[in-house]
Amino acid sequence: MKVPLLDLKAQLDTIRDEVKPAVDEVIESTKYIMGPRVAELEEKIADYCGTSFGIGVSSGTDALLISLMALNIQPDNLVITTPYSFFATAGVIARLRAVPVFVDIDPDTYNMDPVKLKKWVRENKDKVDKVRAIIPVHLYGQCADMDSILKITNEYSIPLVEDAAQAIGSRYPSFKGIKKAGSMGVLGCFSFFPSKNLGGIGDGGMVVTNDEKLSQILINLRNHGSHPKYYHSMIGGNFRLDSVQAAVLLIKLKYLDDWHNSRQKNAKYYDENLNVEVIKNPFIAYKREYHIYNQYVISVPEKRAELRTFLKENNIGHEVYYPVPFHEQECFRYLGYREGDFPNSEQAAQRTIALPIYPELTTEMQDYVIEKIEEFYR
Ligand SMILES: *Cc1c(COP(=O)(O)O)cnc(C)c1O
Repeated sequence: MKVPLLDLKAQLDTIRDEVKPAVDEVIESTKYIMGPRVAELEEKIADYCGTSFGIGVSSGTDALLISLMALNIQPDNLVITTPYSFFATAGVIARLRAVPVFVDIDPDTYNMDPVKLKKWVRENKDKVDKVRAIIPVHLYGQCADMDSILKITNEYSIPLVEDAAQAIGSRYPSFKGIKKAGSMGVLGCFSFFPSKNLGGIGDGGMVVTNDEKLSQILINLRNHGSHPKYYHSMIGGNFRLDSVQAAVLLIKLKYLDDWHNSRQKNAKYYDENLNVEVIKNPFIAYKREYHIYNQYVISVPEKRAELRTFLKENNIGHEVYYPVPFHEQECFRYLGYREGDFPNSEQAAQRTIALPIYPELTTEMQDYVIEKIEEFYR
């Protein structure tokens, strides 16, 4: 048996008859950038997330970058995030010559630990007024503890940007009711990279917001800051979204909640049937139905490298997200952090491993994955 980490062909098989004509329609329209399909997608995604505005952009990375640009992040401003995420989360901060400040993750959820955030604020009273944004990440598809984080950011009037690249449709039970990922901060960022739960046939992204003024700034920045056309009061870039991505994403959006459900069902199956003493299955912070399981990540304190070799030999796809925390990346050495500064992130980097969880995964395949992991630890 062969079990890939992700099988986009299996997904395509279920929607090919819709996708191909939609792509063809875009080709024939000869309107390839932005256009009516992008406008329609922006409206539908904003609606899906419970926000007023959606601004289509060129990638999840650019969604984060343009968000920080819209907040007017300047060189030497501080931006807080965690050291354990996909590189883009910290990369965009440094690209604007701002300073990434890291606070450690919660060891169970892998998301920003509000207690650590509070501790940083308490211990850095002289620096707090230089913090111009905070970026919690909803890692693997489960929301960070937003009520606790927002309590702190509201107290200090720090704008919160959600890195919801892995979490479109993920829900959070806030004290104000159930909220969708991306709708709780001033800006929410999504990625349509093909491996995300809602993935295009190339790069794409979206920023959502309830702030009309910011939405207008984002719209201008997306097109070189041009407003009106060929007049520039600010410097933006080319962060536009292609029509063909929007056309495909509009089709996939119809199935997104069904795909989330299948991932949750698969997660439940692993939760109940993968029973190895040393392995820590994913922690459910709220409810399983609130987690969209972009990844199903287990923690293995012993013999991870050997397990990976064994899985590979048995044709089981898997990946480590992420093997090196930001503060240990060579390019961030100038920030002056040291090994040991963020023990929970470091431990996660050493122990986590993502297993196949995609919607089309069969029970037979899951049984095989479970059987092989159990065999390895026996
Ligand atoms: C995928 C991802 C991004 C970047 O999105 P791209 O579309 O690949 O640029 C940013 N942050 C996180 C947490 C991601 O998983």
